[in-house]
Amino acid sequence: MNKANPGGEPGHHDPAAQYLADLTGGSGMPGGLPAIPGVEGSGGLTNAVDWVVGWARANSLWPLVFGTSCCAIEMMATGASHNDWARFGLEVARASPRQADLIILAGTIVEKMGSRLITLYEQMPGPKYVIAMGACTISGGPFYYDSYSVVKGADRLIPVDVYVPGCPPRPEALLFGVMKLQELIRKGGWRNSLTPRPINHSPIKDEMSETARLWEEKEKAKQEGMKEAQERFKAENPDFKGVVIKRVAAPKFDEVPRVVRSQRGLPAPETFAILAERFPGLMVQGLSEPTPEKLAALGPEYILDVIVGREDYLGLVGFLKSDARLKLDFLIELTAVDWKDRFDVVVHLQSLEKGHKVFLRCALPREEHPEIPSLTGIFSGADWHEREAYDFFGIRFAGHPDLRRLFLDDDFPGHPLRKDFEDPSRIVKRPY
Ligand code: SF4
Repeated sequence: MNKANPGGEPGHHDPAAQYLADLTGGSGMPGGLPAIPGVEGSGGLTNAVDWVVGWARANSLWPLVFGTSCCAIEMMATGASHNDWARFGLEVARASPRQADLIILAGTIVEKMGSRLITLYEQMPGPKYVIAMGACTISGGPFYYDSYSVVKGADRLIPVDVYVPGCPPRPEALLFGVMKLQELIRKGGWRNSLTPRPINHSPIKDEMSETARLWEEKEKAKQEGMKEAQERFKAENPDFKGVVIKRVAAPKFDEVPRVVRSQRGLPAPETFAILAERFPGLMVQGLSEPTPEKLAALGPEYILDVIVGREDYLGLVGFLKSDARLKLDFLIELTAVDWKDRFDVVVHLQSLEKGHKVFLRCALPREEHPEIPSLTGIFSGADWHEREAYDFFGIRFAGHPDLRRLFLDDDFPGHPLRKDFEDPSRIVKRPY
């Protein structure tokens, strides 16, 4: 029988009857409750209470937002006035897990956040629910491969009730996910509250390399089939002359002259002359003999790039900052490069007043923990730069006030930007 048209009159559609049928699952009880066995002698009262509790829970969700990257922008848009998730009973997003019963995960989850996420989940009072939004949260997404730090799915940490796919999913998709969750909560009622899903312990697999291998096999078979078909066609149609394809000449455009932008401030040859006077033997990257002529020949866009020994590193940086002609008083960047046979610590400085810049690099031996003086006494901003270089390369900065890892957990094994870093949990994507 047509549930929406119980009278059976052909062609007649009764929206009210349809609504009731959808709401009750065709059972007559709201929320399709016959799935929950009634309590004997209760006269349907317990089912009614179940329905009310499920309905109230589903329509009064208090979300804790766990936005970690780009998906969070769509999540914010979902809560804002245009999409307005308050229409679905999600009221003000909570800043404390103790006031929330739904956590919306939106964005990439890195290992270091993992333990924090578990803590937040544990702090939420039950019954509690989880929506995982976007490819990164669901599986690690674009970071599933070649990453030492991204969790390959939030459900490896906490139970997830609803997955909303996309990169990023649009607000409509998140709202649909919320509606799906509400459906699950309503069906559970009071006695059968939605039980947390199991944690995902499935093995992490390299599916893409296998797919690529199968794809290559199929492509090869297709090419062979095409070759055979072409040969057969030629044999069956010996008079066929083929089709001459006329190529359209590519349009030619006038070359646009490049505007050469001069460095502001002191030109590189003059800067180097000042430095060489104080630090004889200073070298320039890429030049065997840094004469003024050779430096001038590098053009007005060239930024002086000097090589300094470990013994002069601190003195040179101090001089670059304090010399009145140079005044390189801004540390743009401090980082490192692993060249396999050595490390380079690279520093970029700029004079805010004059505008010129200087790069300097200092080579360190390839040891477990090579050491170089810290620049924190000269530039306080070097603090986090040096901690980052320590975290990722294992370089120690002598005299640093607080040399700890910056991004990774304290017990992270190794330094991931070293060329010899190996991580058994990392899946390396096969090159195509
Ligand atoms: S799924 Fe896409 S949009 Fe969402 S966090 Fe990942 S990369 Fe960003």
